[in-house]
Amino acid sequence: MNKINIKNLSQEDLEQALKQLGLPAYSAKQIFIWLYKKHVSDFGQMTNLSLSSRQLLAEQFEIPSLAVHQKKISRDHTTKYQFVLNDGPAVESVLIPMGRWHTLCVSSQAGCALGCKFCLTGIKGFKRNLSVSEITEQLAAVQAENRDTPISHIVFMGMGEPFANYDNTLKAIDILTSEFGYQYSHRRITVSTAGLVPQIKRFIGESKANLAVSLNALYDDTRTALMPINARYPLEKLTAVLKDYHQKRKGWVTFEYVMIKDINDGIAHAIQLAKLLKEFPFKVNLIPFNEHWGTDYKRPDEEHIRAFQEYLVSHTIACMVRTTHGEEIEAACGQLGGIKIPQEDAQ
Ligand code: SAH
Ligand code: SF4
Repeated sequence: MNKINIKNLSQEDLEQALKQLGLPAYSAKQIFIWLYKKHVSDFGQMTNLSLSSRQLLAEQFEIPSLAVHQKKISRDHTTKYQFVLNDGPAVESVLIPMGRWHTLCVSSQAGCALGCKFCLTGIKGFKRNLSVSEITEQLAAVQAENRDTPISHIVFMGMGEPFANYDNTLKAIDILTSEFGYQYSHRRITVSTAGLVPQIKRFIGESKANLAVSLNALYDDTRTALMPINARYPLEKLTAVLKDYHQKRKGWVTFEYVMIKDINDGIAHAIQLAKLLKEFPFKVNLIPFNEHWGTDYKRPDEEHIRAFQEYLVSHTIACMVRTTHGEEIEAACGQLGGIKIPQEDAQ
């Protein structure tokens, strides 16, 4: 019999599974504590459960973990961790030190099917969705390597589109925020999407975590050229659902805006962005394009980036230029590649 991966179950799933085995639902809390606070790898170690329960659990479930395959540390101490999944694909997480805060950028998919033209993950294509445990275990593994530096924030901005793996992403957030799991506040978790409108609608009602949207362009033709998903969910549909988010959640969304030379870095775009932001008092993160072998796009000059930012700030828009972390180790946004392919070696 194939055993069930217990770390793929949310607390509610586990309660149901325990009931079916004739075990008390409250044991889900005890098991969560063993799994996510004490990090045991064996049901035998769960000493507050009866011996017979432990035996039954060991027959039914397995407790997987993810081992770091490789790590690279950049000059600014950003560290990229690579994990190789059981069936072959590799995924990456990036630990970004920011003063006393440490942010972990996790992957939600091996590759990505949305194929944004500027993104290395997208250019390399889609392998598969990550399971719940393959998402949460990135945190467990990286935290275990950095015991003295608590990871305070988690962002779903690594490889993949979290909303194309919606259910697993939400279950992972459930474990990350459970009182008996990792106990993160929802405010410290941000999910970034390229703009999958139906899933944003669901997220409004189903999660209290923060939302970031990779906007990247203010005109449909430019956005569709950069992000093919825009043909399905154009800016009008995207902004309508974000208006809804703002009204219902009273929260801020962060717009990510990758600045690409001569594509979306002109003042006309900043003016358009300021217009849009009159309707939504959202924050903007300007991300200077990280150049890579997968495209000819270039990063704008510093003056262009500064002028764009100054225009937004002068229109009272909260706007940061995101400093690039770990660029030389290809740990920056859009440089997460997973499996090595021959062209990459040639760089
Ligand atoms: N799929 C989700 C989550 C991945 S986040 C999303 O797209 O939002 C990856 C972030 O990095 C996105 O904001 C994306 O626009 C940005 N990005 C991708 N490639 C990049 C590159 N080469 N340089 C800078 N930012 C990039
Ligand atoms: Fe996928 Fe996001 Fe990259 Fe687009 S930017 S290809 S949605 S990971």
